[in-house]
Amino acid sequence: MAKAAALIKTKIVATIGPASRDRRMLERLMAAGVDVFRLNFSHGARAEHEQALRTIRALAGRRGDGPAVMADLCGPKIRVGQIAGGGVLLVEGAEVTIQRRTVVGTVKRFSTTLAELIDDVRKGQRIRLDDGKIELEVIRRRLPQAIVCRVLTGGILSSSKGVNLPQTALKLSALTEKDRADARWLAKQDIDYVALSFVQRAADVEALRKILRAGGSDAHIIAKIEKPQALKNIDGILAAADGIMVARGDLGVEMSLPEVPLAQKRLVRLAAAAGKVCIVATQMLETMTESASPTRAEVSDVANAVLDGADAVMLSGETAIGKYPEKTVRMMDSILRETGQYHDELRREGTVRIVLPEASAVGEDLLAVARAVAALVDDERVKAVAAFTISGETARVLSRMRLPVPILALTPSRRVAQQMSLLYGTVGREAPICTHTREILAVAADQARRLRWASKGEKIVVASGRPLGVSGTINTLVVHTV
Ligand code: PGA
Ligand code: MN
Repeated sequence: MAKAAALIKTKIVATIGPASRDRRMLERLMAAGVDVFRLNFSHGARAEHEQALRTIRALAGRRGDGPAVMADLCGPKIRVGQIAGGGVLLVEGAEVTIQRRTVVGTVKRFSTTLAELIDDVRKGQRIRLDDGKIELEVIRRRLPQAIVCRVLTGGILSSSKGVNLPQTALKLSALTEKDRADARWLAKQDIDYVALSFVQRAADVEALRKILRAGGSDAHIIAKIEKPQALKNIDGILAAADGIMVARGDLGVEMSLPEVPLAQKRLVRLAAAAGKVCIVATQMLETMTESASPTRAEVSDVANAVLDGADAVMLSGETAIGKYPEKTVRMMDSILRETGQYHDELRREGTVRIVLPEASAVGEDLLAVARAVAALVDDERVKAVAAFTISGETARVLSRMRLPVPILALTPSRRVAQQMSLLYGTVGREAPICTHTREILAVAADQARRLRWASKGEKIVVASGRPLGVSGTINTLVVHTV
């Protein structure tokens, strides 16, 4: 029997932090299977992110492959201001005032990092503090100075705890002054993706795109879906962004927790239908922040995100501040491998089918190529599909199809090659623009062999375009024997 095709594994995003910033750890995480590193601009100084970025690029240069780097902008994440002492106990039924003016918080009143918050909330709306552990209801507005709330669920409130406004559409853009400054700086850096927190509408994404473009950056944008308002505007957001993140941390506070699993499934499906990439994030192996093994439920959660069809799964505190960053990545990698095998089984059974792109979303040539590829990979001897792609679009369309074989994106752009690291079943490699078909075939075969996807005598499908080296001209397919 022919050797099985290379296993297709969902991608791993790992957040960098104090536990993983140094060179040795970054190297180990790469070896353990990280595909994308996340620099979280909610924490850490810019200089620390810059240093981590440099180290990742230096290490990748030596390995000959390039993980993607995603910078994650803080967005209008609101926090409680300073609270007196170690915290104050808010008792159920009591009244507490949120002030515009910055005050040291007491049991009677406190302020937040967003003074204007009090202008946007309405009477009757809920305000959730500390990941939803404490809940308030607005009972009176005393503008312009304050709003008065009743404590619905009490608890100890301490400094800098998160504030979520699930029922409030904030007038402000998802880009704060800090985000704009960070984005302008990021536009000049070697960054592949920029994620934006607390997106509410397509205009938020467009505003970020404008700043990145103006700075000369071709980084792609991931809209973090963590507000009910984003779910409401999801079609527009998907059209404006290059991908989305199911940001379950804040989403779980902004919605009721039992609603989150279905929101995840819907978002993964909607992203797929729109041809955009999708990351499932937060608390995936949370227990491993402190402990050397995850819970059964966490392992199942990671596996289920794969079966939902996510492009990537993300680690947050586990790798940023956890005790076992490398062990956690290894654990995630092995869950993805095991689940990937099952996915392969389903594919062979025909339970998981190849999805053809919408005719309206791709050109006629690309649609024809996609159809032909889908037919060709039916042949067991075909072990991989390689595509020469300038913008990465062909590879993105192929990745979206969920083929039973891996995809090799060959591109003259290092940025595009790195961006491929986030895409399901896809590996990017830098390659010069070839002028003859036989050069293309040689490069593709050589890379497929190095990746151990195909050995001598096996077949790969190679997609390229005429005229060679011109974007948007994919129209040629060759079945090549390695
Ligand atoms: P964060 O985003 O880790 O930046 O908060 C992810 C989430 O909220 O799930
Ligand atoms: Mn978040």
